[in-house]
Amino acid sequence: MVVRSPRESLAVPPAIQRRLEAAGLRRTLATRAVLGLFLAHPDGTLSHAQALASLTARGLDINRVTLYRLLERLAACGVLRRHTDGQARTWRFGLAALETEAAGPRFECDACHRQFRLPQAGASTQAVADGLIRTLEGQGHRGLRLDLAIRGTCADCVGAGDSTGATGNT
Ligand SMILES: [Zn+2]
Repeated sequence: MVVRSPRESLAVPPAIQRRLEAAGLRRTLATRAVLGLFLAHPDGTLSHAQALASLTARGLDINRVTLYRLLERLAACGVLRRHTDGQARTWRFGLAALETEAAGPRFECDACHRQFRLPQAGASTQAVADGLIRTLEGQGHRGLRLDLAIRGTCADCVGAGDSTGATGNT
């Protein structure tokens, strides 16, 4: 059995931090410990009982009702996802996919105003965004969001020549 110090805490990714702040959830010791549990195994799921056992093993004294409410609140604000364990009919919790929020920068065409997502640039964009947000957080700024948008002329409109007509499709 590995007993870890309860002071050990993983960095809370900005995407999660933003959701906590949007939901008005304070980063208490219990919240950080619960998040640490899931961040340590991003692909895993835990039942309430398993989470309680792990937290207790890590030296956190948390009431089972308090933990249950915390898990519910984290699920409600989109940090955790919740699904039923078919056989045992208990809830299991896992980290919600945060990639949707980091779906990459937007590109908006000045001519036709269509928006294009660049999901293939999501990872590198997120790395840049995380770095910028960490820098700002280090300066004491809070509630940071980054909306990266690129503007220009889309391939269709470029193909339509200098015409910025509505259709561009003749
Ligand atoms: Zn266009």
